[in-house]
Amino acid sequence: MTTHDLTLIAATDAIGIPAEPFRVRHLIGGAWQGSANGETFERHSPAHGVLVSRSAKGGEAETNAAIAAARSAFDSGVWSRISGKQRASVMLRVADLIERDVERMALLETLESGKPITQSRGEVAGAADLWRYAASLARTLHGDSHNTLGEDMLGVVLKEPIGVVSIITPWNFPFWILSQKLPFALAAGCTCVIKPSEMTSATTVMMGELLIEAGLPAGVVNIVLGYGQPVGSLMTTHPDVDMVTFTGSTAVGKSITAAASATLKKVALELGGKNPQVIFPDADLENAADAVTFGVYFNVGQCCNSSSRIIVHEDIADDFVARVVELSRQVAFGDPLDPETQVGAIVTPEHQAKIDACVRQAVADGANVRLGGGILSVPGLDGQFYEPTVIAGVRPEMAIAREEVFGPVLSVLTFRTADEAIALANDASYGLSAGVWSENIHTCLDFARRAQAGTVWTNTWMDGFPELTFGGMKQSGQGREIGPYGLDEFLEVKTVAMRIGRTRAPWVRKR
Ligand code: NAD
Repeated sequence: MTTHDLTLIAATDAIGIPAEPFRVRHLIGGAWQGSANGETFERHSPAHGVLVSRSAKGGEAETNAAIAAARSAFDSGVWSRISGKQRASVMLRVADLIERDVERMALLETLESGKPITQSRGEVAGAADLWRYAASLARTLHGDSHNTLGEDMLGVVLKEPIGVVSIITPWNFPFWILSQKLPFALAAGCTCVIKPSEMTSATTVMMGELLIEAGLPAGVVNIVLGYGQPVGSLMTTHPDVDMVTFTGSTAVGKSITAAASATLKKVALELGGKNPQVIFPDADLENAADAVTFGVYFNVGQCCNSSSRIIVHEDIADDFVARVVELSRQVAFGDPLDPETQVGAIVTPEHQAKIDACVRQAVADGANVRLGGGILSVPGLDGQFYEPTVIAGVRPEMAIAREEVFGPVLSVLTFRTADEAIALANDASYGLSAGVWSENIHTCLDFARRAQAGTVWTNTWMDGFPELTFGGMKQSGQGREIGPYGLDEFLEVKTVAMRIGRTRAPWVRKR
């Protein structure tokens, strides 16, 4: 294949890259500040190679200060003890401000991450809805009452904010993932310390600006910029932190669980996936092929929900793969600043090399590349791009069938019976999401019930709503985000048993 067979979008100057890099500083106790030692780090656009942001580099001093600010704000009750109505009104203002600033934030999101500008706009605008939904939970949050314990007893179960929460986020959907966590933590009444990925700090800092503008009290949300060591690590071990919510790789998630165990803080994890879509012969194949193409190339496959493997019935496999290959050629890869672009850049050269190594290994293992399989150069751009890649002849024991590639690489496996399809779908250490395509409702329901995945899509892929909870089984994570369960994660439960009247019989027999 040559790159002439693909749809490429060359460099555009439709939207200007800012002349000055965005200045990223810590937010601690309501004040913006650099690092005590003056250290900074830089982010270059993965698509254009230009300097985009320069960030303060946090150390132990900044992390300790941010945790102290969050602790003191929590204990003061300035947020944790106000009414749900008051919390909701601040959060609704944040949602309005997000919508006001979509363009500004989307540009930085695209420049730091390499994703298409249209998707950054969608991600930022969509996050406003998460804030509105979480605001509704702030007002409806309640515990239980027990009025059946006898005439002299009343029991209530209170839900209380868990306390200080460390929020650690990855680079692939920086603004969206922050909004899957932060408004729910705030709705519960928690205070927070946030560490965004060192590669995509800008929009988290912009969020901090909006929180201040919306009237959030100082110290309720603090942001520390920097790397896993020492910032992230201290956020997971510090005794004044009550909970860690982390989205990122399974390897780092495991290390966080181990680190947090010394203080037994609660840990919620959203980790990797190797998500299957199963295609039965009676499926709407045109629709399924389009969804498979979307599922594997969206965000260049750098997506926890990437449908990186398909399990297709033997009778239709050749035809189906041909359809996906043909559609893949029509997906517009290139400059993320051009609104026509559907797939942008790979986040770093190291990650591009990792994707390429996975493809080479698959070939060495005996799989065959039907499309792509190499580094892509886009005219006028000095960045990392990878060809849309379809690999057939994949067997379940191959690494390409089991490991998260996190790139635009689709593995094709085949099946004969429904039982075999379900066994293949579940044959993974991950359990984030799964999909099934069939016109038979029984086939879909059976699959949905037997799939080991936190989300199952039937005849669709990656539809999401703030109301529908999200999270992973097996090594894809623990705990849930968004929906009502997403609020529960940030709550402690306290029982209050109350006696009515002086009916308690004395325990001590008076002598
Ligand atoms: P990563 O694990 O390398 O980093 C994530 C965050 O953890 C970053 O902010 C990083 O600085 C920080 N970190 C690194 N080491 C740390 C440590 N020892 N202690 C505390 N923090 C530490 O992940 P990434 O490369 O940024 O993101 C890609 C991964 O995220 C993929 O595996 C993907 O599947 C996963 N992901 C999962 C979901 C989900 O909802 N399940 C969503 C998006 C991404």
